[in-house]
Amino acid sequence: MAVSEQEVEQIVRQIIGQMSGNAAGGQKQTAVSGSGSSGQIPSVAHVAMLTALEKFEVKEYPMPAVGDDDILVKVEGCGVCGTDAHEFKRDPFSLIPVALGHEGTGEIVKMGKNVKQDSAGKPLHLGDKVVTCMIFDDDPDITMYDLNKQNVGAADVYGLLPDDEVHLNGWFADYILIRKGSTVFNVSDLDLDSRILIEPCAVLVHAVERAKTTGILRFNSRVAVQGCGPIGLICIAVLRTMGIEHITAVDGNEQRLSFAKRLGADHTVSFKEYQGIEALTGAVKESFGGHLADFAFQCTGNPNAHANIYKFIRNGGGLCELGFFVNGGDATINPHFDLCSKEITLVGSWVYTLRDYATTFDFLKRAKAIGLPMAELITHKYPLEQINEALRTNLAMTGLKIAIVNQ
Ligand SMILES: [Zn+2]
Repeated sequence: MAVSEQEVEQIVRQIIGQMSGNAAGGQKQTAVSGSGSSGQIPSVAHVAMLTALEKFEVKEYPMPAVGDDDILVKVEGCGVCGTDAHEFKRDPFSLIPVALGHEGTGEIVKMGKNVKQDSAGKPLHLGDKVVTCMIFDDDPDITMYDLNKQNVGAADVYGLLPDDEVHLNGWFADYILIRKGSTVFNVSDLDLDSRILIEPCAVLVHAVERAKTTGILRFNSRVAVQGCGPIGLICIAVLRTMGIEHITAVDGNEQRLSFAKRLGADHTVSFKEYQGIEALTGAVKESFGGHLADFAFQCTGNPNAHANIYKFIRNGGGLCELGFFVNGGDATINPHFDLCSKEITLVGSWVYTLRDYATTFDFLKRAKAIGLPMAELITHKYPLEQINEALRTNLAMTGLKIAIVNQ
């Protein structure tokens, strides 16, 4: 029987874990219970709690007991999402005090005896790197892994839960307790930067899957991507990874446009160089050699950008609108000219399905294999103690992806 190096390492870790767990006296082991643990687990965990608007405090809590179905994860890092920024600024979900952070990843340091495999059926061991997706509730359309057709927008996720007696409910922390009923994926074969990018990338894998339902997005399609923030940039990378050659990125920021090229756009158009929508449409058309786009992705949160993008699309073309994670206001279109007479097929996209989440792991591997500089999307890394600054950097929109990285 062949045993891989990784498996040997895991077995060794497991044995060492059991030894330290069973050692009598002298061990600074804690009151943590469960079937296995790796290495030393401190007696307290540190959690960045949002205790007031624009104010995180790193609090200490006792390390919780690990139940038979639970997993204790030592957090390695977590991306800062726009949702975190909204919560930080305004608390729209009335969650304060709350442990935020849902784009996190880390290493299993202890798990209950009933935990054997992840939500995709892959075995789980101590030392494995994991991410979570949503927490199951009883809606089969959301929770069925294989037959899922519905996005997880209505489900609970770690990092947006009300505070409770465990407190380790978000990824802006050094430990998180993953409880029974959560989806968890073994992503040990992805590097830390890739793992931090899983959640935002899943949003784009989903958007492209939505776009494909129109039947218009094809191998040789001409695709316009409007907005080159993290979402638009990842959109370009997903399209490029699936073999789409003709991608035009539209934005007003030269730095972002040049990064768009490195992530797979073959042409860029800066809207700042054109006066009015007709001139801008002309530039987009020119980028496709005199053709309008077959398909367009709208990746900004600006209602005017939504209204304008129809002009870039050919008769019979398609549009995926994914820029409005929050209510950004109303957009005015002309239903006759923009939609009916052109026979545009329009899809909206929001968050992702569980299936998209798993597809994203493969996307990230492929993006790396074809040399797309995905890791450069993470422009800022802060330790947990500087979380307030990390959020302020996110709000200032001077970077792309901001992340908290431990140690
Ligand atoms: Zn997010």
